[in-house]
Amino acid sequence: MTVSKLPEFTPKAAEFWATIPVSVKPQLLANVFCGHCRGAVKIVDYKGTVKSGDLVLNGHCAVCGGEVARLIEG
Ligand SMILES: [Zn+2]
Repeated sequence: MTVSKLPEFTPKAAEFWATIPVSVKPQLLANVFCGHCRGAVKIVDYKGTVKSGDLVLNGHCAVCGGEVARLIEG
């Protein structure tokens, strides 16, 4: 369950993700805004894509299961 394999990322997104410091990644993944929970939640089952030079993570809220997204500026 907690095995850290790389989720579904496009090659470009994987490249982008690799440039982010390991110490920062957990913070990015644990501070995603959920409209249902109205606060910062953890993103799970996420995919990564690159749009306009920014990394976009699309996944689900760990609390309510709703769809959430996180944009990481390039
Ligand atoms: Zn939620």
